[in-house]
Amino acid sequence: GALSRSCGRLRGPVLRELLASADTVLFDCDGVIWDGERSLPGATELVAVLVGRGKQVFFVSNNCTRSRQQYLLKFGRLGFRGVRSEQIYSSAYCSAVYLKEVARLRGKVFVIGGEGVISELMEAGVPFVTGEEEEGLPGVGEPPEEGEQEDPEVKAVLVGYDEKFSFLKLAKACCYLRDPDCLFLATDPDPWHPVRGGRITPGTGSLTAAVETATNRKATVVGKPSRFIFDCICSHFGADPSRTLMVGDRLESDVLFGASCGVTTVLTLTGVSRLEEALAHLESGDVARADLVPDYYVDSVADFLDELQD
Ligand code: PLP
Ligand code: CA
Repeated sequence: GALSRSCGRLRGPVLRELLASADTVLFDCDGVIWDGERSLPGATELVAVLVGRGKQVFFVSNNCTRSRQQYLLKFGRLGFRGVRSEQIYSSAYCSAVYLKEVARLRGKVFVIGGEGVISELMEAGVPFVTGEEEEGLPGVGEPPEEGEQEDPEVKAVLVGYDEKFSFLKLAKACCYLRDPDCLFLATDPDPWHPVRGGRITPGTGSLTAAVETATNRKATVVGKPSRFIFDCICSHFGADPSRTLMVGDRLESDVLFGASCGVTTVLTLTGVSRLEEALAHLESGDVARADLVPDYYVDSVADFLDELQD
């Protein structure tokens, strides 16, 4: 529970006990099992050992730039053996699930996003339009006449990571979202991501914020920290929160996600968040920050492996 979270280092008998009692392990991807195109130490072995011990292992990523099929190729490339697409829960895949099974969309979705989102919508059979297909609005950024819509069949707007984001796409999204019945979804709220060379790239959250500001509406978030991805896993495979671990590198997405799912959270220090940030949340005593405090931390996922191999 919130009060017992103390962000202690996970090691020795406590780690052993936790692994023994868990039957489901959720891994965030970037910063946890890989860093860009490099698998992190111990990750491939850990996944294999957990699966070998009969644990359900799932990968929970806010990165919507790949389809499940493309993720499978990446897992293979990085040396993960035997990963199945059913284990991969990305924000792109879950956005398609949401539109199809929760919203039961009768119409099209206007997509701001790339190949990952588009492939998953196609796979799920959700009709879509992108802002790239034609010139569209008269004059870049000039809004259409009152009541005039680009495509009257559009009943939802989905915002994901889009390197071709433009003022025109923003203007079109706003146009659709003026209809209060038009659903507004975002794959994830991540503000930025680290990239090679210590630089950062803006995340989907920055694009979503632009659409939110322009429309005075709030997007429904599909990815972490929303618990929707966990609900998908539970409905497809079943998972007991009291026997589930969430391992992540970002407090605001992974640890908050784990807290809202009621699972045990483990921060690994190979990614975005620092131990000092977690401890600052803990020491603040602020109830509003309690869900940002992980139950435990490890230096890297290799710490799990050490305990499993003894
Ligand atoms: N979205 C994009 C575009 C990214 O590049 C990344 C990480 O590199 C993420 C989301 C976060 O992914 P994850 O949830 O696996 O850390
Ligand atoms: Ca991450």
